[in-house]
Amino acid sequence: MHETDMTKALILTVKDWWEAQPEQPKVSRVHLTVGKCTCVEPVSLQFAFEVQTRNTFLEGAELAIAETLLIAFCHRCQAEYAPEIGLQYACPQCQSPMEDIRSGRELKIDRIEYSVATADAVNSDPANAAIA
Ligand SMILES: [Zn+2]
Repeated sequence: MHETDMTKALILTVKDWWEAQPEQPKVSRVHLTVGKCTCVEPVSLQFAFEVQTRNTFLEGAELAIAETLLIAFCHRCQAEYAPEIGLQYACPQCQSPMEDIRSGRELKIDRIEYSVATADAVNSDPANAAIA
């Protein structure tokens, strides 16, 4: 499944970042930008994220998804337009075929919200020590 693999890659990316931090922070929210044209269903992504982060360092973290529209650029008209996915992939003005996609294909982590626990808090919370 598309979203499952994508979520795996996403979690690995966050984990790399997380492991590189001097103190492993508690991640509260992962902000993601998903293009309309990536064929990713936000709802499926949310679900996959919830399932795959159970009992991991991301347990309880929220996935915030911002969708970007498909935007193409017509060189003949020197103008941007928003093609209708599945219906029309040409410039509405001159009917030139869509060649230059400006946005709508991205899938990236925008930012990660987290808090760093103090040493005392870590010691008093054994759950924090069990992270693999
Ligand atoms: Zn055009």
